[in-house]
Amino acid sequence: MTVIKVKTGEGTSFVNITGQVRQVVRTSGVKSGICLVYVPHTTACVFINEGADPDVMKDIAYALEKVIPWRDRYAHAEGNSAAHIRSALIGNSRVVPIEEGDLLLGTWEAIFLAEFDGPRERKVVIKVLKEE
Ligand code: ZN
Repeated sequence: MTVIKVKTGEGTSFVNITGQVRQVVRTSGVKSGICLVYVPHTTACVFINEGADPDVMKDIAYALEKVIPWRDRYAHAEGNSAAHIRSALIGNSRVVPIEEGDLLLGTWEAIFLAEFDGPRERKVVIKVLKEE
């Protein structure tokens, strides 16, 4: 298991962690298997989407704000319910296949850590499992 630390910006931010995850996979020496990427935080999540055009992340943030607005009639006293809901819906882990010692991502795909109540320093747990 490897744990990497990621600093996030104010409010909602998306951090491309593909390079760090890829480095962990290469260092592991596993040629074929799976890579688990897990975020142990309740206002953060991890997902895979386009890494080429930063406007895609802007649009995802825009759409999340429309669907799950920051201010609404939430009960949670901490005042960050929207961050919890966005994190719960997107999910706190992803699994990526490993082939030929590398992540089997699509051409335009990247792995993102998203934080919805930043700034924070977040942990990302990476587990590389070898196929028997
Ligand atoms: Zn909270």
